[in-house]
Amino acid sequence: MEERKATPKLREDLAGKSLEEALEILKTEGIELTDEQIRAISGGGSWTGSCPKCGSEDIKNLAYNYWACNSCGHTW
Ligand SMILES: [Zn+2]
Repeated sequence: MEERKATPKLREDLAGKSLEEALEILKTEGIELTDEQIRAISGGGSWTGSCPKCGSEDIKNLAYNYWACNSCGHTW
């Protein structure tokens, strides 16, 4: 069975979504990601999320599924 990958189009759809929302979309698309791939999306540099507190997109991925905002210092 051919492995389905997250396409650039899909990455656009995922932009701005939380990781949980993104995973929900991927599930809907029938795409199962490995932890490695999820990490690539969430921390691979192409992920464009934003701080849930101040909305800043100046965020960084500290660890798997753990984020920090460079603007307000909020972590989630
Ligand atoms: Zn913030």
